[in-house]
Amino acid sequence: MSTIMFVHAHPDDEGTLTAGAMIRAAEEGHRVVVVFATGGEHGEAPDDLRPGETVAQRRRAEAEQAARIAGVAGLHWLGYRDSGMAGWEQNHHPRAFLQADPEEAAERLAALIASERPDVLVGYDWHGNYGHPDHIRVHQVVRRAAELAGNRPRLFEATMNRDLVRRLYRTALDGGIEDAQGFDPDRPMNDGNPLGTPEAEINLQVDVSAQVARRREVMACHASQVTDIQAWLSLPAEGYAAMFSTEHYVEVGSSDPIRPGWFF
Ligand SMILES: [Zn+2]
Repeated sequence: MSTIMFVHAHPDDEGTLTAGAMIRAAEEGHRVVVVFATGGEHGEAPDDLRPGETVAQRRRAEAEQAARIAGVAGLHWLGYRDSGMAGWEQNHHPRAFLQADPEEAAERLAALIASERPDVLVGYDWHGNYGHPDHIRVHQVVRRAAELAGNRPRLFEATMNRDLVRRLYRTALDGGIEDAQGFDPDRPMNDGNPLGTPEAEINLQVDVSAQVARRREVMACHASQVTDIQAWLSLPAEGYAAMFSTEHYVEVGSSDPIRPGWFF
């Protein structure tokens, strides 16, 4: 049995990016640990928020439920505040992840690495797929925490395969799906870069086709995030499976071409 630790910026990021691998690893008997850097304070406020209930409380409960379904054995929160999108005034909140000293955040994560002792550590690609400031910060903090941990865990970075998404996007357009949520991977994202990583720079393609049904359940736990999550869940089953049956990772330090494989 190995331990694998996934680090995410906000609750629900695990659903779209790494839930297939989390479920698969747990099914195979590995210990799956998830760390959320922030509480997702600036996500959507659902209509059914109870009086006194905060978005972060709702999202924490959703993340806990999603973790149970995914078979996550350890769930941790670094305790920072969602920084919001680039340029928002929330970027400057004193507790925002963006305002935190990256070294201090890396030390918090390194302490979790020391206690959980993962064999595999998973962060985000260099621009966090689409440039959300908290995602970029996850990339930086995970890299640094891995160094502080003596580079013991093998380090991977979750990304999206821009070429695959482009193929799916075109298929959806050809199939008459309006604009496939405007999810054009070549459009500049928040940081001005296109989505994710080109296939030529990805090392590992993980088959999670057997986990698609449970993955839907995991994503459905994050129902408060209507724009991000319900749009995916509303895809026809075929389109959902095409999008979420594989996951893509960059292995830090590797220049190998993409291969179907697994972490263990
Ligand atoms: Zn996020």
